[in-house]
Amino acid sequence: MALGCVLFPCIVHNPLMPALDNPSLTLPWRNRYAALGPDFLSPVSPTPLPAVHWVLQNTALAADMGLPAAFWEEPQVLAALGGSATLAGSTPLASVYSGHQFGVWAGQLGDGRALWLGEIDTPLGAQELQLKGAGKTPYSRMGDGRAVLRSSIREFLCSEAMHGLGIPTTRALALVGSPGKVIREELETAAIVTRVAPSFMRFGHFEHFAAKAQTPQLQTLADFFIEQQWPDLLSIDAGPERYTALLARVSERTAALLAQWQSVGFCHGVMNTDNMSMLGLTIDYGPFQFLDGFDPSHICNHSDHQGRYAYARQPQIAFWNLYCLGQALMPLINDQDLAVSALENFKTDYPHMMDERFAAKLGLAQVQATDHGLIQNLLQLLATEKTDFSIFWRRLSHAVAALSHTNSSQAFEPVRDLFIQASAWEAWLPTYLQRLEKQEAHTTAEAMLKTNPKFVLRNHLGEVAINQAKMGDFSGVQTLFNLLASPFEEHPGHDNFAAFPPDWASSISISCSS
Ligand code: AMP
Ligand code: MG
Repeated sequence: MALGCVLFPCIVHNPLMPALDNPSLTLPWRNRYAALGPDFLSPVSPTPLPAVHWVLQNTALAADMGLPAAFWEEPQVLAALGGSATLAGSTPLASVYSGHQFGVWAGQLGDGRALWLGEIDTPLGAQELQLKGAGKTPYSRMGDGRAVLRSSIREFLCSEAMHGLGIPTTRALALVGSPGKVIREELETAAIVTRVAPSFMRFGHFEHFAAKAQTPQLQTLADFFIEQQWPDLLSIDAGPERYTALLARVSERTAALLAQWQSVGFCHGVMNTDNMSMLGLTIDYGPFQFLDGFDPSHICNHSDHQGRYAYARQPQIAFWNLYCLGQALMPLINDQDLAVSALENFKTDYPHMMDERFAAKLGLAQVQATDHGLIQNLLQLLATEKTDFSIFWRRLSHAVAALSHTNSSQAFEPVRDLFIQASAWEAWLPTYLQRLEKQEAHTTAEAMLKTNPKFVLRNHLGEVAINQAKMGDFSGVQTLFNLLASPFEEHPGHDNFAAFPPDWASSISISCSS
């Protein structure tokens, strides 16, 4: 079996608890996906985790979703998010998808451990809810359907960190833990993340029906997605033009996502086609990493021996994945040239968006012709010294702010201090200063401080909090959650969370095991 990650059998305590209905908590369910039928999904009840307890509650998201104030107090909510009760109106199901893993067709993959609870109307628009780790589904293959506390904390924190950074992502509403045991490389405890997104549809959902040559189902799925997410495309007749427009829009969204990932030094780690969202959201947080030192060839996934998903290769891989989606949609598009033209959006949009993102990081409101070279030269010099990526940009922002009350050599001293060989930096700086001169320095610095985060979820920060959590102390996880939710704020007293990584950080090894 071609698995992106090795799955191990597990032992989980599952005292069979009866499913409960909770008539007092009425949520505005609207489960459109469930109506698609058995080719697309299997109704599955969650398998209860024993003795569940709260680890994290995202009260801000709950409020934004208009969930009732009593939501977190209801014992049945904890039970439902721990898999031992069903919220009234929810129709749990597992959807089926396939995909390419590490560049190879892997057939049917999932969803082996995510249960779709349904869709609710919220002030944020209709949102789908999923439990990740709620037990086996018909698509679990050799897996146990569970997720461990360690990886669930990483998923929760990084979803919210991305949201805090303004990067499209699935969200995390809640995290429940349990003493129930799961076997991975070692015995670990299980957890369930409740995640939220307007749609959890992946490229792999479409690849599934294309691979089975089930064109009617492929079209049903495409039309379902269009109707649910991009109804403006319904004005195009159901034919090649409509599905070309769908592919073009996914290409644009994916380009925008990749430009954002690259601009914060985010490595996804497992960009298989089943981990690519049709909406261009960051999804399926596994061995991801925010770069410490800027190393374009950095590989964050211990299981990625070839470096397929190295930081600098991500845009290229995103295009490869879009190409797979284009192939999958070919029975509906029927014209190679149309499909290629839709994919071209990525090729034209991405470089432009990249320049826009990095220009914004430099405090340049508009991209000018010479800015591309300025950006590339800077990235080259950061790569040469593997300069700490987040600290560099934050210090640069503060340096530009300091220009309003001191001279440039003093203002930029903390930035220069980041380089062992400062000559390349000193050669680059004057061109930047000339470029900045045309702008209002104070406004520029303010914008930079809202673009270059002080806090990112560095591996070592997650590691420390996870080790604490494993001992039953969730305060570290909560602190990180608070900081990462507003990563551009200064958060006085928490500078150690924005400091250089300790030496041991480089020895952290994150694999797909989750
Ligand atoms: P990933 O490479 O983590 O995206 O995993 C690929 C697919 O394998 C997922 O979408 C799941 O359907 C399935 N999977 C991963 N871990 C498990 C597990 N512990 N139990 C069941 N299925 C799993
Ligand atoms: Mg996945």
